[in-house]
Amino acid sequence: MKLIFEKSVPGRRASRTAAGDVPPIGIAPDLLRPSPAPLPELSELDVVRHFTELSRRNFGVDSNFYPLGSCTMKYNPKVAEHIASYPGFADLHPLLPQLRIGGMLTQGALRVLYEMDLLLREITGMAGFTMQPLAGAHGELTGMMIMAAYHRERGNSKTTVLIPDSAHGTNPASAAIAGYEVVSIPSNDHGLMDVEAVRQHLSDEIAGLMLTCPNTLGLFNPQVKEICDLIHGVDGLAYYDGANLNAIVGKARPGDFGFDIVHLNLHKTFATPHGGGGPGAGPVGVKENLLPFLPVSVVVKRGDGTYTLEYDRAKSIGYIAPFYGNFAVVLRAYVYILMLGKEGLRRVAENAVLNANYVKEKLRGHYRSSVDGLCKHECVFSISEEMAQNEVRAIDVAKTLIDRGFHPPTVYFPTTVKEALMIEPTETESKETLDAFIDAMIDIAERAGIEPETLKSAPTTTVVCRPDETVAAKNLNIACLEQKTAAL
Ligand SMILES: *Cc1c(COP(=O)(O)O)cnc(C)c1O
Repeated sequence: MKLIFEKSVPGRRASRTAAGDVPPIGIAPDLLRPSPAPLPELSELDVVRHFTELSRRNFGVDSNFYPLGSCTMKYNPKVAEHIASYPGFADLHPLLPQLRIGGMLTQGALRVLYEMDLLLREITGMAGFTMQPLAGAHGELTGMMIMAAYHRERGNSKTTVLIPDSAHGTNPASAAIAGYEVVSIPSNDHGLMDVEAVRQHLSDEIAGLMLTCPNTLGLFNPQVKEICDLIHGVDGLAYYDGANLNAIVGKARPGDFGFDIVHLNLHKTFATPHGGGGPGAGPVGVKENLLPFLPVSVVVKRGDGTYTLEYDRAKSIGYIAPFYGNFAVVLRAYVYILMLGKEGLRRVAENAVLNANYVKEKLRGHYRSSVDGLCKHECVFSISEEMAQNEVRAIDVAKTLIDRGFHPPTVYFPTTVKEALMIEPTETESKETLDAFIDAMIDIAERAGIEPETLKSAPTTTVVCRPDETVAAKNLNIACLEQKTAAL
C-alpha cells in the first residue's frame, strides 16, 4: 500500500471553496514559506479509501478475541458511546461556569461525577473517590502521594513501601516516583505473598504496602485481612491495586478487607475503551481519615441540591490533572454501571472468572499451567517441556495466533514465570469464541512438535512480518512489508 503522499496528483482536490471576497492581508515575506507546503493532493474518494484501508489493518475487541492478560480487553457496549456523544456532554467546555444565571450548563456533568463517587464507594467499601487520575498508574501515583501526605501530617519519617514480586509492574514505579524505597517480597510456592513474609519485613520504616489483587498470576490472596492488620500495626497504610476489579466486583470489597487506598481502572473493569495509551481513568478511593488529602477539585452537593466544585482544601495533595480528569471516560463507566446494576456487575465477576478457568482447564496438559487450583480473571501458562525442547518460545505461540485471527495474550509477564503466556478472556466472550481460541492454542502446541519452524516464521498474514527482536530497536527491517506492498 502506498503512502498517502505517493498517491498525490498535483492539482487534484477533495473540495472546492468559493473565491474569497476579503482582501488579502500582507504577511511579512520572511514569515512566508518559500514554496507551498508539500501536502498530498487527492480527491475525497482517494482519501476515504486510503483511511478505510488503513483502518482495516487495525485489530480491536470489535474485530475478534483479544485475550491480553492484565489489560481486560472486554467488549465496550455501544450504548455508553452513544450517551457520551450527547451534545449536552460532548460539547461541554471545561471552562464553562459551574452555574450560569438562568441556566445550569454543567450541572448534569457535575452530577455524573458526584454520583459516580457514590457508586464507587458502594462497590469498593471506601469513603470517597477522586475521578481525576487519567490512568491506572496515575491513580497509583495519586494514592502514593496521599500516603506520603498522611505520614507527613503525622510527623512520620517513613521511607519504605513493601510490594510483592507478583505485583503489576507499575506498582514499584509509582512508589518510587512518590519518593519511597521499594522492597520486593518474594511469593511463596503457591504464587502468593504470605503473612509470614510480610511480618519479616515489618519495621517503623514501613510507610505502607501495595497489593495487586488478584495478583499477576490471577490469584486472590486469602490472607489480605491479616496483611492489612500487620501493616496497620506499624502505622502503615495498605494500598489495593484494583485495576482488575472485574475479578471480584459485586462479590467482595477492598474496603472491607482493611485497605486504606484503592485505585480502579474504569478502562478495564467498567468497559470503557482503552489501548494506544489512553485516554483512561484511574479513580482513587480512600477511607474516611484520608479524605482531606484527595486532590482538587472535589464535587460537592449544596443544600439546594445543586453541585459545585470545591478547590479550597488545605490538606489536599493539590492538582494532579487538568480540570476534571477524563470526564468522558467516567461518563461511559457511569452508564455501564447503571446499565448493569448490582446483579449485572456480580455476573461480570462470575463470568470473567468462569471464562478464565474454562480456558485454564482446557489448555492444561498442552501448556504448563502456573496455577494448580482456581484462578480469578486470568490464567498464566508457559510453554510445555516438549515445546521448549523444540526451541519453540512463547513469542512463537503469540505470533502464530495472529495468523489464526486472534490477538496474542500478554507474553513474558509476569516476570516470575518463564516464557509466560498470560490469558485474560474477560466475561464478554461466548463459549464458541473461547473454544475457537482453545482449538487454535492446542493446534499450535501440536504443530510445535511436528513442524516447529513454521511457528518461527509467523505471522505470515500481516503486512509487517516478524522483525528481528534485537536488531529491530536500532535498525528496523520491514523488507517483508515492502515486498508485499510491491505486489499490491
Ligand atoms: C493495567 C494495570 C495497571 C496500570 O493501568 P494503566 O491504566 O495502564 O496505567 C496497574 N495495575 C494493574 C494490576 C493493571 O492491570
